[in-house]
Amino acid sequence: MELKFYNTLTRKKEFFVPIEPGHVRMYVCGPTVYDRPHLGNARSVVVYDVLYRLLAECFPRVTYARNITDVDDKINAAAKTNGEPISALTTRVEGWFHADMAALNCAVPTIEPRATKHIPQMIAMIEKLIARGHAYAADGHVLFAVESYSEYGRLSGRKLEDLISGARVEVEDYKRHPGDFVLWKPALANDDASSVFDSPWGKGRPGWHIECSAMSSEYLGDYFDIHGGGSDLMFPHHENEIAQSCCAKPGVQFARFWIHNGFLTVGGEKMSKSLGNFTTVKDVLDKGVKGEVVRMALLMSKYNEPLDWNGKLLHDAELMLGKFYKMVGAEAEEDVPQAFLDALGDDLNTPRAFAALYSMAPAEAVAALKFLGFLQMSPAEWFAKETPADAKVDEAWVLAKIAARIDAKIAKDWAAADGFRKELTDHGIVVKDRPDGTTDWDWA
Ligand code: AMP
Ligand code: ZN
Repeated sequence: MELKFYNTLTRKKEFFVPIEPGHVRMYVCGPTVYDRPHLGNARSVVVYDVLYRLLAECFPRVTYARNITDVDDKINAAAKTNGEPISALTTRVEGWFHADMAALNCAVPTIEPRATKHIPQMIAMIEKLIARGHAYAADGHVLFAVESYSEYGRLSGRKLEDLISGARVEVEDYKRHPGDFVLWKPALANDDASSVFDSPWGKGRPGWHIECSAMSSEYLGDYFDIHGGGSDLMFPHHENEIAQSCCAKPGVQFARFWIHNGFLTVGGEKMSKSLGNFTTVKDVLDKGVKGEVVRMALLMSKYNEPLDWNGKLLHDAELMLGKFYKMVGAEAEEDVPQAFLDALGDDLNTPRAFAALYSMAPAEAVAALKFLGFLQMSPAEWFAKETPADAKVDEAWVLAKIAARIDAKIAKDWAAADGFRKELTDHGIVVKDRPDGTTDWDWA
Protein backbone atom coordinates (compact mmCIF):
# COMPACT_ATOMS: atom_id res chain seq x y z
CA MET A 1 0.00 0.00 0.00
CA GLU A 2 1.01 3.61 -0.52
CA LEU A 3 2.22 5.63 2.43
CA LYS A 4 2.59 9.40 2.39
CA PHE A 5 3.86 11.61 5.16
CA TYR A 6 4.43 15.33 5.47
CA ASN A 7 8.18 15.89 5.54
CA THR A 8 9.21 19.05 7.41
CA LEU A 9 12.53 19.06 5.56
CA THR A 10 10.98 19.41 2.10
CA ARG A 11 7.70 20.97 3.29
CA LYS A 12 5.79 18.48 1.16
CA LYS A 13 3.76 15.35 1.57
CA GLU A 14 5.99 12.63 0.12
CA PHE A 15 5.68 8.95 -0.67
CA PHE A 16 7.39 6.81 1.92
CA VAL A 17 9.53 3.82 0.93
CA PRO A 18 12.19 2.51 3.34
CA ILE A 19 15.81 3.11 2.34
CA GLU A 20 16.66 -0.52 3.12
CA PRO A 21 13.94 -2.64 1.50
CA GLY A 22 11.64 -4.20 4.08
CA HIS A 23 13.29 -2.52 7.06
CA VAL A 24 12.17 0.86 8.45
CA ARG A 25 14.47 2.71 10.83
CA MET A 26 12.88 5.42 12.97
CA TYR A 27 14.26 7.64 15.74
CA VAL A 28 12.08 9.73 18.05
CA CYS A 29 13.32 12.16 20.69
CA GLY A 30 12.26 10.77 24.03
CA PRO A 31 11.73 12.26 27.47
CA THR A 32 14.12 14.17 29.67
CA VAL A 33 13.51 12.25 32.88
CA TYR A 34 13.12 14.85 35.62
CA ASP A 35 9.37 14.92 36.14
CA ARG A 36 6.20 12.94 35.50
CA PRO A 37 5.06 13.14 31.82
CA HIS A 38 2.23 15.54 31.04
CA LEU A 39 -0.45 15.20 28.38
CA GLY A 40 1.65 17.19 25.87
CA ASN A 41 4.51 14.69 26.23
CA ALA A 42 1.95 11.89 25.91
CA ARG A 43 0.62 13.30 22.64
CA SER A 44 4.06 12.93 21.10
CA VAL A 45 4.48 9.35 22.36
CA VAL A 46 0.97 8.29 21.26
CA VAL A 47 1.38 9.83 17.77
CA TYR A 48 4.65 7.96 17.10
CA ASP A 49 3.13 4.81 18.55
CA VAL A 50 0.46 5.01 15.83
CA LEU A 51 3.12 5.55 13.20
CA TYR A 52 5.10 2.59 14.57
CA ARG A 53 2.03 0.32 14.45
CA LEU A 54 1.25 1.39 10.89
CA LEU A 55 4.84 0.80 9.71
CA ALA A 56 4.95 -2.59 11.45
CA GLU A 57 1.76 -3.56 9.60
CA CYS A 58 3.23 -2.51 6.24
CA PHE A 59 6.83 -3.73 6.47
CA PRO A 60 8.48 -6.93 7.75
CA ARG A 61 10.83 -5.10 10.12
CA VAL A 62 10.79 -1.77 11.99
CA THR A 63 13.59 -0.60 14.26
CA TYR A 64 12.15 2.11 16.48
CA ALA A 65 14.64 3.90 18.73
CA ARG A 66 13.45 6.41 21.35
CA ASN A 67 16.04 7.79 23.71
CA ILE A 68 15.94 8.58 27.40
CA THR A 69 17.71 11.85 28.21
CA ASP A 70 19.10 11.18 31.68
CA VAL A 71 21.74 13.90 31.79
CA ASP A 72 20.61 17.51 31.52
CA ASP A 73 20.61 20.80 33.44
CA LYS A 74 16.92 20.37 34.32
CA ILE A 75 17.71 16.98 35.85
CA ASN A 76 20.56 18.41 37.91
CA ALA A 77 18.34 21.23 39.13
CA ALA A 78 15.44 18.91 40.05
CA ALA A 79 17.74 16.48 41.91
CA LYS A 80 19.18 19.38 43.89
CA THR A 81 15.71 20.70 44.78
CA ASN A 82 14.59 17.23 45.89
CA GLY A 83 17.88 16.61 47.71
CA GLU A 84 18.38 13.23 46.04
CA PRO A 85 21.06 11.65 43.84
CA ILE A 86 20.57 12.15 40.10
CA SER A 87 20.46 8.42 39.41
CA ALA A 88 17.65 7.96 41.95
CA LEU A 89 15.63 10.71 40.24
CA THR A 90 16.19 9.52 36.67
CA THR A 91 15.48 5.87 37.49
CA ARG A 92 12.24 6.79 39.27
CA VAL A 93 11.01 9.17 36.54
CA GLU A 94 11.90 6.68 33.82
CA GLY A 95 9.72 4.14 35.65
CA TRP A 96 6.85 6.66 35.83
CA PHE A 97 7.22 7.39 32.12
CA HIS A 98 7.04 3.70 31.24
CA ALA A 99 4.06 3.08 33.52
CA ASP A 100 2.09 6.08 32.22
CA MET A 101 2.78 5.31 28.56
CA ALA A 102 1.88 1.64 29.10
CA ALA A 103 -1.42 2.83 30.58
CA LEU A 104 -2.05 4.59 27.26
CA ASN A 105 -1.27 1.31 25.43
CA CYS A 106 1.88 2.63 23.79
CA ALA A 107 4.13 -0.16 22.59
CA VAL A 108 7.70 -0.32 23.90
CA PRO A 109 10.20 0.82 21.22
CA THR A 110 12.72 -1.65 19.84
CA ILE A 111 15.56 0.23 21.54
CA GLU A 112 15.48 2.81 24.35
CA PRO A 113 19.04 4.08 24.65
CA ARG A 114 19.98 6.07 27.75
CA ALA A 115 22.24 9.06 27.14
CA THR A 116 24.59 8.31 30.05
CA LYS A 117 25.38 4.89 28.56
CA HIS A 118 26.65 6.47 25.32
CA ILE A 119 29.12 9.11 26.49
CA PRO A 120 32.10 7.53 24.60
CA GLN A 121 30.14 7.69 21.32
CA MET A 122 29.32 11.36 21.98
CA ILE A 123 32.95 12.19 22.78
CA ALA A 124 34.08 10.41 19.59
CA MET A 125 31.63 12.44 17.54
CA ILE A 126 32.75 15.72 19.14
CA GLU A 127 36.39 14.81 18.41
CA LYS A 128 35.51 14.25 14.76
CA LEU A 129 33.72 17.60 14.60
CA ILE A 130 36.79 19.37 16.03
CA ALA A 131 39.13 17.53 13.65
CA ARG A 132 37.00 18.51 10.67
CA GLY A 133 36.92 22.18 11.69
CA HIS A 134 33.25 22.28 12.71
CA ALA A 135 33.78 22.64 16.46
CA TYR A 136 36.16 24.36 18.88
CA ALA A 137 37.02 24.20 22.55
CA ALA A 138 36.64 27.45 24.49
CA ASP A 139 36.51 28.18 28.20
CA GLY A 140 35.98 24.53 29.20
CA HIS A 141 33.20 24.14 26.64
CA VAL A 142 33.20 22.64 23.18
CA LEU A 143 31.00 24.50 20.73
CA PHE A 144 29.69 23.75 17.27
CA ALA A 145 30.58 26.53 14.84
CA VAL A 146 27.32 27.18 12.98
CA GLU A 147 29.07 29.26 10.30
CA SER A 148 31.07 26.19 9.29
CA TYR A 149 27.95 24.47 7.95
CA SER A 150 26.35 26.17 4.97
CA GLU A 151 23.12 24.14 5.28
CA TYR A 152 22.47 25.31 8.84
CA GLY A 153 18.84 26.45 9.12
CA ARG A 154 17.51 24.30 6.28
CA LEU A 155 15.05 22.29 8.39
CA SER A 156 13.55 25.19 10.32
CA GLY A 157 13.92 27.74 7.54
CA ARG A 158 15.87 30.09 9.82
CA LYS A 159 18.79 32.21 8.74
CA LEU A 160 21.87 32.85 10.84
CA GLU A 161 21.32 36.63 10.68
CA ASP A 162 17.84 36.18 12.18
CA LEU A 163 19.34 34.20 15.01
CA ILE A 164 21.42 37.16 16.04
CA SER A 165 18.76 39.84 15.59
CA GLY A 166 16.16 37.68 17.33
CA ALA A 167 18.67 37.20 20.20
CA ARG A 168 16.92 33.95 21.09
CA VAL A 169 20.24 32.34 21.92
CA GLU A 170 22.55 33.00 24.82
CA VAL A 171 25.47 35.12 23.67
CA GLU A 172 28.40 34.11 25.88
CA ASP A 173 31.68 35.85 25.03
CA TYR A 174 33.51 32.56 24.43
CA LYS A 175 31.29 31.89 21.41
CA ARG A 176 32.63 32.79 17.98
CA HIS A 177 29.09 33.24 16.71
CA PRO A 178 26.04 33.83 18.91
CA GLY A 179 24.33 30.82 17.31
CA ASP A 180 27.14 28.39 18.21
CA PHE A 181 25.78 25.69 20.48
CA VAL A 182 27.26 23.53 23.20
CA LEU A 183 28.57 20.02 22.48
CA TRP A 184 30.28 19.63 25.83
CA LYS A 185 30.00 21.74 28.97
CA PRO A 186 32.23 21.80 32.04
CA ALA A 187 31.09 20.36 35.38
CA LEU A 188 30.37 22.76 38.22
CA ALA A 189 32.20 22.34 41.52
CA ASN A 190 29.21 20.88 43.42
CA ASP A 191 27.79 18.69 40.63
CA ASP A 192 26.62 15.20 41.55
CA ALA A 193 29.26 12.68 40.42
CA SER A 194 26.73 10.72 38.34
CA SER A 195 26.34 13.70 36.00
CA VAL A 196 30.10 14.26 35.61
CA PHE A 197 32.13 12.45 32.94
CA ASP A 198 35.79 12.53 31.93
CA SER A 199 36.58 13.90 28.51
CA PRO A 200 39.57 15.27 26.56
CA TRP A 201 38.25 18.75 27.53
CA GLY A 202 38.04 18.06 31.24
CA LYS A 203 35.25 16.81 33.47
CA GLY A 204 31.79 17.73 32.27
CA ARG A 205 28.72 16.53 30.45
CA PRO A 206 27.45 16.45 26.88
CA GLY A 207 25.04 18.96 25.38
CA TRP A 208 21.53 17.68 24.72
CA HIS A 209 21.73 17.79 20.91
CA ILE A 210 24.83 15.59 20.57
CA GLU A 211 23.05 12.81 22.51
CA CYS A 212 20.54 12.20 19.75
CA SER A 213 23.13 12.44 16.95
CA ALA A 214 25.37 9.87 18.67
CA MET A 215 22.61 7.45 19.66
CA SER A 216 20.74 7.52 16.34
CA SER A 217 23.98 6.82 14.48
CA GLU A 218 24.83 3.98 16.89
CA TYR A 219 21.54 2.13 16.37
CA LEU A 220 20.22 3.27 13.00
CA GLY A 221 23.31 4.23 11.02
CA ASP A 222 24.18 7.41 9.13
CA TYR A 223 21.14 7.47 6.88
CA PHE A 224 17.80 6.33 8.24
CA ASP A 225 14.14 6.74 7.35
CA ILE A 226 12.29 8.82 9.91
CA HIS A 227 13.18 11.23 12.69
CA GLY A 228 10.32 12.44 14.85
CA GLY A 229 9.56 14.70 17.79
CA GLY A 230 7.35 17.60 18.85
CA SER A 231 7.38 20.74 16.73
CA ASP A 232 9.11 22.60 19.58
CA LEU A 233 12.17 20.47 18.80
CA MET A 234 12.48 21.57 15.16
CA PHE A 235 14.65 24.47 16.24
CA PRO A 236 17.21 24.40 17.69
CA HIS A 237 17.32 20.70 18.67
CA HIS A 238 16.73 19.01 15.30
CA GLU A 239 18.56 21.68 13.33
CA ASN A 240 21.57 21.07 15.57
CA GLU A 241 21.29 17.29 15.29
CA ILE A 242 21.47 17.61 11.50
CA ALA A 243 24.48 19.93 11.67
CA GLN A 244 26.39 17.59 14.00
CA SER A 245 25.60 14.35 12.19
CA CYS A 246 26.21 15.71 8.71
CA CYS A 247 29.48 17.43 9.64
CA ALA A 248 31.03 14.60 11.71
CA LYS A 249 31.59 12.43 8.63
CA PRO A 250 31.61 13.26 4.94
CA GLY A 251 28.56 12.22 2.96
CA VAL A 252 26.18 11.66 5.87
CA GLN A 253 22.55 12.28 4.91
CA PHE A 254 21.04 11.61 8.35
CA ALA A 255 17.23 11.33 8.47
CA ARG A 256 15.20 11.28 5.26
CA PHE A 257 11.78 12.17 6.69
CA TRP A 258 11.38 14.69 9.51
CA ILE A 259 8.00 14.36 11.15
CA HIS A 260 6.78 16.77 13.84
CA ASN A 261 3.71 16.48 16.01
CA GLY A 262 1.69 19.59 16.84
CA PHE A 263 1.30 20.99 20.33
CA LEU A 264 -1.22 20.03 22.88
CA THR A 265 -2.46 23.40 24.10
CA VAL A 266 -4.49 24.76 26.99
CA GLY A 267 -6.53 27.83 26.11
CA GLY A 268 -4.36 28.12 22.99
CA GLU A 269 -1.04 28.02 24.85
CA LYS A 270 1.43 25.12 24.62
CA MET A 271 1.10 22.77 27.58
CA SER A 272 4.49 22.85 29.27
CA LYS A 273 6.27 22.40 32.56
CA SER A 274 7.71 25.90 32.41
CA LEU A 275 4.33 27.61 31.95
CA GLY A 276 2.85 25.52 34.75
CA ASN A 277 -0.34 24.87 32.73
CA PHE A 278 0.17 21.12 32.59
CA THR A 279 -1.87 18.11 33.63
CA THR A 280 0.10 14.92 34.07
CA VAL A 281 -1.12 11.67 32.56
CA LYS A 282 -1.27 10.32 36.09
CA ASP A 283 -3.51 13.20 37.25
CA VAL A 284 -6.06 12.16 34.64
CA LEU A 285 -5.73 8.40 35.23
CA ASP A 286 -6.03 8.93 39.00
CA LYS A 287 -9.43 10.54 38.47
CA GLY A 288 -10.57 7.20 37.05
CA VAL A 289 -10.31 8.09 33.36
CA LYS A 290 -9.33 5.02 31.38
CA GLY A 291 -6.04 5.08 29.47
CA GLU A 292 -7.82 4.25 26.21
CA VAL A 293 -10.03 7.30 26.62
CA VAL A 294 -6.98 9.56 26.99
CA ARG A 295 -5.35 7.84 24.01
CA MET A 296 -8.46 8.40 21.87
CA ALA A 297 -8.78 12.04 23.01
CA LEU A 298 -5.19 12.60 21.82
CA LEU A 299 -5.82 10.96 18.44
CA MET A 300 -9.16 12.42 17.41
CA SER A 301 -7.32 15.39 15.83
CA LYS A 302 -4.69 15.21 13.14
CA TYR A 303 -1.25 14.73 14.64
CA ASN A 304 0.34 17.86 13.17
CA GLU A 305 -2.41 20.30 14.10
CA PRO A 306 -2.65 21.96 17.49
CA LEU A 307 -5.02 20.19 19.86
CA ASP A 308 -6.62 22.17 22.64
CA TRP A 309 -7.21 20.08 25.75
CA ASN A 310 -10.57 20.29 27.49
CA GLY A 311 -13.00 18.02 29.29
CA LYS A 312 -15.19 17.65 26.22
CA LEU A 313 -12.43 15.67 24.47
CA LEU A 314 -12.57 12.97 27.15
CA HIS A 315 -16.34 12.96 27.02
CA ASP A 316 -16.39 12.52 23.22
CA ALA A 317 -13.65 9.86 23.34
CA GLU A 318 -15.52 7.84 25.96
CA LEU A 319 -18.78 8.03 24.03
CA MET A 320 -17.15 6.91 20.82
CA LEU A 321 -15.24 4.00 22.36
CA GLY A 322 -18.38 2.93 24.25
CA LYS A 323 -20.19 2.50 20.91
CA PHE A 324 -17.50 0.15 19.66
CA TYR A 325 -17.15 -1.80 22.92
CA LYS A 326 -20.77 -2.84 22.36
CA MET A 327 -19.64 -4.55 19.14
CA VAL A 328 -16.74 -6.51 20.65
CA GLY A 329 -17.19 -10.25 20.27
CA ALA A 330 -20.18 -9.89 17.93
CA GLU A 331 -18.42 -11.73 15.13
CA ALA A 332 -15.01 -13.21 14.45
CA GLU A 333 -12.45 -10.49 13.92
CA GLU A 334 -10.90 -9.74 10.58
CA ASP A 335 -7.72 -8.26 9.17
CA VAL A 336 -7.21 -4.54 9.65
CA PRO A 337 -9.57 -2.99 7.07
CA GLN A 338 -7.86 -1.36 4.11
CA ALA A 339 -9.92 1.87 4.32
CA PHE A 340 -8.61 2.36 7.86
CA LEU A 341 -5.00 1.70 6.85
CA ASP A 342 -5.36 3.96 3.82
CA ALA A 343 -6.46 6.88 5.99
CA LEU A 344 -3.52 6.32 8.34
CA GLY A 345 -1.20 5.96 5.37
CA ASP A 346 -2.29 9.40 4.21
CA ASP A 347 -0.11 11.37 6.61
CA LEU A 348 -1.54 9.61 9.69
CA ASN A 349 -5.04 10.96 9.18
CA THR A 350 -6.56 9.53 12.36
CA PRO A 351 -9.78 11.64 12.19
CA ARG A 352 -10.48 10.19 8.73
CA ALA A 353 -9.56 6.68 9.91
CA PHE A 354 -12.02 6.92 12.82
CA ALA A 355 -14.75 8.39 10.59
CA ALA A 356 -14.34 5.37 8.28
CA LEU A 357 -15.19 3.01 11.17
CA TYR A 358 -18.85 3.99 11.08
CA SER A 359 -19.37 2.58 7.60
CA MET A 360 -17.64 -0.74 8.37
CA ALA A 361 -19.05 -4.03 9.54
CA PRO A 362 -18.74 -4.32 13.36
CA ALA A 363 -16.05 -7.01 13.18
CA GLU A 364 -13.97 -4.82 10.87
CA ALA A 365 -14.29 -1.75 13.07
CA VAL A 366 -13.29 -3.81 16.11
CA ALA A 367 -10.23 -5.18 14.27
CA ALA A 368 -9.21 -1.64 13.25
CA LEU A 369 -9.49 -0.27 16.78
CA LYS A 370 -7.65 -3.22 18.33
CA PHE A 371 -4.84 -2.73 15.84
CA LEU A 372 -4.49 0.87 16.99
CA GLY A 373 -4.31 -0.04 20.70
CA PHE A 374 -8.00 0.30 21.63
CA LEU A 375 -10.62 -2.18 22.88
CA GLN A 376 -7.97 -3.87 25.02
CA MET A 377 -10.36 -4.40 27.93
CA SER A 378 -13.27 -6.81 28.09
CA PRO A 379 -16.62 -5.07 27.48
CA ALA A 380 -17.65 -6.03 31.03
CA GLU A 381 -14.60 -4.27 32.44
CA TRP A 382 -15.16 -1.24 30.22
CA PHE A 383 -18.81 -0.75 31.14
CA ALA A 384 -18.10 -1.31 34.84
CA LYS A 385 -15.74 1.65 34.93
CA GLU A 386 -17.44 4.78 33.75
CA THR A 387 -15.28 7.89 33.69
CA PRO A 388 -16.29 9.98 36.71
CA ALA A 389 -18.33 13.11 36.08
CA ASP A 390 -15.69 15.42 37.49
CA ALA A 391 -13.15 14.24 34.90
CA LYS A 392 -15.36 14.34 31.86
CA VAL A 393 -17.69 17.19 31.16
CA ASP A 394 -20.98 17.12 29.37
CA GLU A 395 -23.53 19.79 28.66
CA ALA A 396 -25.83 18.79 31.51
CA TRP A 397 -22.97 19.11 33.98
CA VAL A 398 -22.03 22.54 32.62
CA LEU A 399 -25.63 23.79 32.75
CA ALA A 400 -26.02 22.55 36.32
CA LYS A 401 -22.89 24.42 37.40
CA ILE A 402 -24.03 27.59 35.62
CA ALA A 403 -27.43 27.39 37.33
CA ALA A 404 -25.74 26.89 40.72
CA ARG A 405 -23.56 29.94 40.03
CA ILE A 406 -26.61 32.08 39.16
CA ASP A 407 -28.31 30.94 42.38
CA ALA A 408 -25.19 31.86 44.36
CA LYS A 409 -25.10 35.30 42.73
CA ILE A 410 -28.77 35.90 43.56
CA ALA A 411 -27.99 34.95 47.18
CA LYS A 412 -24.99 37.37 46.98
CA ASP A 413 -22.70 34.48 47.94
CA TRP A 414 -19.83 35.75 45.78
CA ALA A 415 -17.32 33.22 47.07
CA ALA A 416 -19.55 30.32 46.04
CA ALA A 417 -20.25 31.96 42.65
CA ASP A 418 -16.50 32.35 42.06
CA GLY A 419 -15.99 28.73 43.13
CA PHE A 420 -18.46 27.52 40.45
CA ARG A 421 -16.79 29.70 37.82
CA LYS A 422 -13.39 28.26 38.75
CA GLU A 423 -14.71 24.71 38.54
CA LEU A 424 -16.00 25.45 35.05
CA THR A 425 -12.74 27.08 33.92
CA ASP A 426 -10.76 24.15 35.32
CA HIS A 427 -12.74 21.89 33.02
CA GLY A 428 -12.03 24.01 29.96
CA ILE A 429 -15.30 25.97 29.96
CA VAL A 430 -15.43 29.74 29.36
CA VAL A 431 -18.29 31.48 31.14
CA LYS A 432 -19.64 34.61 29.47
CA ASP A 433 -22.00 36.87 31.39
CA ARG A 434 -24.30 38.76 29.02
CA PRO A 435 -25.39 42.36 29.74
CA ASP A 436 -29.00 41.14 30.11
CA GLY A 437 -28.04 39.03 33.14
CA THR A 438 -28.12 35.66 31.37
CA THR A 439 -25.01 33.47 31.06
CA ASP A 440 -23.53 31.89 27.96
CA TRP A 441 -20.69 29.36 27.84
CA ASP A 442 -18.31 27.71 25.44
CA TRP A 443 -15.42 25.24 25.35
CA ALA A 444 -12.20 27.16 25.92
P1 AMP B 1 10.62 17.00 26.92
O1 AMP B 1 10.66 15.96 27.98
O2 AMP B 1 10.10 18.34 27.36
O3 AMP B 1 11.93 17.12 26.17
O4 AMP B 1 9.55 16.54 25.83
C1 AMP B 1 9.45 15.23 25.32
C2 AMP B 1 8.65 15.22 24.05
O5 AMP B 1 7.33 15.77 24.27
C3 AMP B 1 9.25 16.05 22.93
O6 AMP B 1 9.12 15.35 21.70
C4 AMP B 1 8.42 17.31 22.93
O7 AMP B 1 8.39 17.93 21.67
C5 AMP B 1 7.06 16.76 23.29
N1 AMP B 1 6.17 17.80 23.87
C6 AMP B 1 6.41 18.56 24.97
N2 AMP B 1 5.36 19.40 25.21
C7 AMP B 1 4.43 19.15 24.24
C8 AMP B 1 3.11 19.67 23.95
N3 AMP B 1 2.53 20.61 24.71
N4 AMP B 1 2.46 19.16 22.89
C9 AMP B 1 3.00 18.20 22.13
N5 AMP B 1 4.24 17.66 22.33
C10 AMP B 1 4.95 18.13 23.38
ZN1 ZN C 1 16.63 14.49 19.97
